[in-house]
Amino acid sequence: MRVLVTGGAGFIGSHLCARLLERGDDVICLDNFITGRRQNVRELEQSPAFQLIEADVSEPFDVQADAVFHLASPASPLGYLKYPLKTALANSFGSFNALCLAEKYQAKFLPASTSEVYGDPLEHPQREEYWGNVNPIGMRACYDESKRFAETLTSIFEKKNGVDARIVRIFNCYGPHSDPDDGRIVPSFISQALRGEPITIYGAGSQTRSLCYVSDLVDGLLKAMFTDGTRGRVYNLGSPEEHTVLEYAQIIKRLTRSNSPIVHVDPISEDDPRRRQPDISRARNELGWQPVVGLEEGLSRTIEWFRSELVDRIA
Ligand code: NAD
Repeated sequence: MRVLVTGGAGFIGSHLCARLLERGDDVICLDNFITGRRQNVRELEQSPAFQLIEADVSEPFDVQADAVFHLASPASPLGYLKYPLKTALANSFGSFNALCLAEKYQAKFLPASTSEVYGDPLEHPQREEYWGNVNPIGMRACYDESKRFAETLTSIFEKKNGVDARIVRIFNCYGPHSDPDDGRIVPSFISQALRGEPITIYGAGSQTRSLCYVSDLVDGLLKAMFTDGTRGRVYNLGSPEEHTVLEYAQIIKRLTRSNSPIVHVDPISEDDPRRRQPDISRARNELGWQPVVGLEEGLSRTIEWFRSELVDRIA
């Protein structure tokens, strides 16, 4: 199968490309490197089944494919607050372009939506039926609202244009290849702990997050795309295991054996969600999917990658 992964040089995309190659697919990775790194796919470039195209998904493009994973978008708050317009365009024009391509080649389609479509949720845990609580003009709107619009476009193309599409809403994911400086809690806490710098928590740290290891998430993406009967469905993919941000900082400090102090600072952005936890019953029942990598195991693997990465960056 020929599979296009937009945003394939990013954190999740690079793991997805690797797994698709392992499956025996031909993989085309389309990326403009705005937040991703060529280094993430350097090894994959050795494979004759892997092709890298440097392009902006917001501009029309034409790649023949049997399946399209549309992941191209800045994803961390630091990334989308730095590039709000490019983020909005990647998820609006970019989704439109990717959907037109899926329609043209009758390809299966899956956009990487996000738990952020639920905003600061008034229901807990979040089920796929929940419509969300989003500020349309807040600082995060370039991301949240453009992802919601990408879902709308996907739904129109599925219902009216015959595209075999499904939507996944990814909750916080972590693992190797995430950017140490992108401001998300796991990369930030690990790199601060390994550098011996203070581990900085926004506010009291009582806000919760549920973290899914990247190999589990990639399993979920593949199952959502290729399981029969998923057309037109929406799936939450994430870990239901919920901890406070302060607890994550403490676990990471212990696993890295760091002496860094944990310090509390003012939040950088408004609308920081207080609670995040997916209800994954639908993915369990319809895809037979649930995370299998335990938190400490996943964090340990991530810490090992960060150790070598930080040495490389300093060297
Ligand atoms: P990432 O920033 O590491 O990867 C995104 C990739 O998309 C990067 O390689 C970037 O260069 C590329 N990109 C961005 N705009 C582009 C454009 N206009 N044209 C071509 N390429 C472009 O982020 P990630 O964490 O790997 O996230 C991947 C996808 O999953 C994103 O769509 C994100 O919104 C979604 N998601 C991620 C998480 C998470 O926890 N990581 C949670 C929810 C949703």
